[in-house]
Amino acid sequence: MNLVKFTQYFNLHLHDYILNSLRAAARGLSDEQKAFQKMTFDFAANERFPHMADWDEKEIFPVETMGKAAQLGFGGGSMDSRRWGGSGLSRLDTSLIFETLSTGCVSTTAYLSIHNMCNWMIDTFGNTEQREKYCPELCTMDKFASYCLTEPGSGSDAASLLTNAKLEGDHYVLNGSKAFISGGGDTYIVMCRTRGKGPKGISCVVVEKDTPGISFSNKEKKVGWNSQPTRAVILEDTCVSVDEDKTGDHAD
Ligand SMILES: Cc1cc2nc3c(=O)[nH]c(=O)nc-3n(C[C@H](O)[C@H](O)[C@H](O)COP(=O)(O)OP(=O)(O)OC[C@H]3O[C@@H](n4cnc5c(N)ncnc54)[C@H](O)[C@@H]3O)c2cc1C
Repeated sequence: MNLVKFTQYFNLHLHDYILNSLRAAARGLSDEQKAFQKMTFDFAANERFPHMADWDEKEIFPVETMGKAAQLGFGGGSMDSRRWGGSGLSRLDTSLIFETLSTGCVSTTAYLSIHNMCNWMIDTFGNTEQREKYCPELCTMDKFASYCLTEPGSGSDAASLLTNAKLEGDHYVLNGSKAFISGGGDTYIVMCRTRGKGPKGISCVVVEKDTPGISFSNKEKKVGWNSQPTRAVILEDTCVSVDEDKTGDHAD
């Protein structure tokens, strides 16, 4: 029995049912947290839930609704620096937001959490130029970010990834392929090997979608989760300037 049928069967109003569940989940939260939990729930109920099935069926990535989420501060919720447009929320606060947004649509919320993670990584490990360049437009969601960790041969065991970035003069040259990458956006946060085996040899390079040598597969076929596109990302001699784009050493 799905949630809609369940609530009909017990004569519950879906909105009240979810809100009551959230109230139970709100025990121990501060008044401020409860207030933004309620605000997020209303957004999920009004802007996401009514469209969720349609988005999935027609494979629509709802760019406009993402923009509305960004207006509420959900594009850079995890970022510390309000200076670059972030909301400066704690881990608990952002978890509350994603939990609550999921009541309206899990798939697009999952993407939003990925986008936030990318924005947070640039904000935390990038230099000032990178923050200035990427974070404001990621916060407003005028641009979309993708997190590129998984590879065809490394999923759960991410530390065994093979995509490598070789230093040649003032450029890194990237080669490898990533699988299941959500979003198909503008800015790709690529985990790649710059040194030896294992997690310590991995750095993170920001690659923009128009960089020569980066290409994308067709959308992967999925059961559900169709409102966020998922693709393979292929890197073939993709050159990225060291000064501008490596967020590396801090990402160890
Ligand atoms: C819709 C969707 C969107 C995604 N978006 C992204 C994205 O944006 N960016 C990105 O980088 N990745 C993304 N992924 C990839 C996702 O993170 C991987 O699927 C995940 O890391 C698991 O890897 P895998 O699929 O290769 O499974 P595997 O690693 O092959 O694991 C298969 C199963 O074996 C279990 N398993 C694995 N190793 C062990 C072990 N040592 N002991 C016991 N059990 C084990 C796992 O728990 C799992 O149940 C996405 C995946 C999906 C489905």
